[in-house]
Amino acid sequence: MPIFEESRQIILDQVTPLGVERVDLLSALGRVLAEDVIAPWDMPRYDHSAMDGFAVRSADCAGEGAALRIIGCIAAGGSASTPVVTGCAVRIMTGAPVPGDCDAVVPLEQTEQVEGSVKILAPVQLWQHVRFQGEDVPIGDKVLMAGAVIQSPEIGMLAFFGKAVVQVYRKARVAVLSTGDELMELGEPPLVGRIINSNAFYLAAAIREVGAEPIILSIARDNRDSHREKILEGLKADALITSAGVSTGDWDFVLDVLSELGVRPIVAKGDGRAGGPKAFGMMGETPVFSLPGKPVSTMITFEEIVRPALLKMMGHHRVTRPRFKATLREDASKKPDKIKYLRVRIELENGRYFASTAGDQSTSMLRTMIRANAIAVLPKGRSVVAAGEEVDVHLIRGDAAMLEK
Ligand code: AMP
Ligand code: MG
Repeated sequence: MPIFEESRQIILDQVTPLGVERVDLLSALGRVLAEDVIAPWDMPRYDHSAMDGFAVRSADCAGEGAALRIIGCIAAGGSASTPVVTGCAVRIMTGAPVPGDCDAVVPLEQTEQVEGSVKILAPVQLWQHVRFQGEDVPIGDKVLMAGAVIQSPEIGMLAFFGKAVVQVYRKARVAVLSTGDELMELGEPPLVGRIINSNAFYLAAAIREVGAEPIILSIARDNRDSHREKILEGLKADALITSAGVSTGDWDFVLDVLSELGVRPIVAKGDGRAGGPKAFGMMGETPVFSLPGKPVSTMITFEEIVRPALLKMMGHHRVTRPRFKATLREDASKKPDKIKYLRVRIELENGRYFASTAGDQSTSMLRTMIRANAIAVLPKGRSVVAAGEEVDVHLIRGDAAMLEK
């Protein structure tokens, strides 16, 4: 099994949905519904006209050029005041209720009005242009099921049925902790030998993109006390993500301090799962993801491992992005005993997906992450996968990145 899949599964087995809350309708956008929603009334609520025209009794319109006496007008939101007896018609607007004694609507353009009467110029079918009460959603029907991801159509449907407040899964509050003496805060003048804490901003943005709430902690410096203080703060959130400080360097304290604080290790450094997080542990119900420091590795590990876990915590069932096949544009060489995760750009051309390499695959090449929108998984047992071959790919960005070339 590819390494990412394996660590992802182990971690997904540990995390659980956070719980639910009631929020006003628009705040539910992007969240997962935590209740079944039953139609409290029929939709449409009453038989109504689909056209501007005349409500008629179809039997009255059998002859050619039948003329009917106009007895009134029903506006949208109005109702019929006088019965429509035989030989009569009533002017009706789109959406207005069709009177009980009418059984068809004749569109305005198929009529001609002369002195208080209307001439019907086209044949009339029983029930034409009438929309029936409950034909879209009958009362008592399940409109949306718990587990649905709420996007704009769901908001529209919920509003239609008067749901001003809905029950949804909670947003995860996710603490982000960067570690290292070399780090500077964004906005400070760049000094030689120092680097800006870009990981915190990447992580905060990626956390927002999944619909969670980032909390950026101030940088933990390379000493135990600083790590202890910040990690304790981070453990108050629903999840903690640390970046860097998990190599074997003399100044790498993250794992030591996590263990000292009682975080239960689940995936440990050096257990052969390179490609997953450097480490993953649980502090009670709170997951702690220890990511590598190199920005490319941070991004890929977030995308492959942390994102699915956060989505599960927020009630999502579908936690990975679309996977499909694409044709390689260039030869890719690799070590035969390992799976290779190639950062690629997918493009759609004549209805087929093509994958071209995003550039030098070294993890120090951050620009590849701007070009890449997917990962191609090149199987074990091969030293070259040739241009023209089909490979498994999965997106690492929203579907919007899939552009026609
Ligand atoms: P470390 O795991 O602490 O040895 O860090 C590995 C690499 O990642 C080093 O080159 C760091 O400079 C870089 N790095 C660590 N933390 C960050 C961060 N917050 N933002 C950007 N790069 C970082
Ligand atoms: Mg460091």
